[in-house]
Amino acid sequence: MDRTHQLIIVGGGPAGLSAGLYASRSKVDALLIEKAGLGGRILNAELVENYPGFPQGISGSELGALIAQQATKYGLLTVFAEVQGMQIRGDEKIVSTSEGEYRAQAVIIAGGTEHQKLGIPGEEAFTGKGVSYCAMCDAAFFRDQVVAVVGGGNVALNDALFVTKFASRVIVIHRRDQLRATKILQDRAFANSKLEFLWDTVVESIVGDKLVKEIRLRNLKTGKVSTLEVSGVFAAVGLRPSTGYLKGLLTLDEGGFISVSGQMETGVPGIFAAGDIRSGSIRQVVSAAGDGATAAISAERFLSSA
Ligand SMILES: Cc1cc2nc3c(=O)[nH]c(=O)nc-3n(C[C@H](O)[C@H](O)[C@H](O)COP(=O)(O)OP(=O)(O)OC[C@H]3O[C@@H](n4cnc5c(N)ncnc54)[C@H](O)[C@@H]3O)c2cc1C
Repeated sequence: MDRTHQLIIVGGGPAGLSAGLYASRSKVDALLIEKAGLGGRILNAELVENYPGFPQGISGSELGALIAQQATKYGLLTVFAEVQGMQIRGDEKIVSTSEGEYRAQAVIIAGGTEHQKLGIPGEEAFTGKGVSYCAMCDAAFFRDQVVAVVGGGNVALNDALFVTKFASRVIVIHRRDQLRATKILQDRAFANSKLEFLWDTVVESIVGDKLVKEIRLRNLKTGKVSTLEVSGVFAAVGLRPSTGYLKGLLTLDEGGFISVSGQMETGVPGIFAAGDIRSGSIRQVVSAAGDGATAAISAERFLSSA
């Protein structure tokens, strides 16, 4: 495959794929680099009810696959590799990946976010042995068992509701006394008889032998310490942007998200960012798709003025 292109897009989620759709339909020679699977994080959503055009809702895996199908229809090239570094050499942007170097005049960074770790003893050791960051992938392993979901936002409640299809009991553990998730998800969660809530509580450690057996908890208001027997722990405590390799090249906000203008321009001419990875994003498919389109149009203007 040719290693020099007009545009490189990093990430094949809704933002990167929408950028790819707009760029390739405008006959820009664009290469999209994705490290996992085309579709991005929405592949993990059971049902998406707020993406326009699907009044009955659509499963995340179906939506991701449809976006990928449409994006690759007009000649967008894709390669599977992990982007590990980026440099500027003259007019070129050099993108280092697990599969070697690629070069382009313009780059759109659409790498999205990844899950935040709990950062507690036992988490690392039991990952894949009861600790999971993906309910859609792993919930079926916990049929008729008791599991904990840690977190209080949309992802935590989505995960908890999905896990109730398999587990006998699901306990949501949240450090505050109210949830951050949207009202509609909260209503569904409170109405689900398999779901219970432990408020003002943090997980301090995960304990087991070959597999998870229990978690040790602390109530932040009373200081009381307790244990809970569970077979699984789904961690959904937040997201961090996939920008580690961009430090020093681009301006990042205090959370590590990329600062951009309204046209998705970073401070470096010819480098754009789109989707959940950019500062201030509402982190939804619809905003990621819009950002991707804006970034592609900005990149096209940059290329034609260069
Ligand atoms: C369980 C769940 C439910 C959700 N439900 C909804 C919903 O109902 N409605 C809604 O609008 N949104 C929902 N979302 C949020 C939605 O998935 C995101 O807002 C959207 O996917 C963001 O798109 P993106 O393209 O910016 O990033 P992502 O979807 O995160 O895609 C980024 C892509 O970049 C790749 N990547 C990252 N770093 C690199 C690298 N260094 N090299 C190569 N590739 C890289 C990743 O593998 C990934 O495929 C949900 C998310 C989850 C997890």
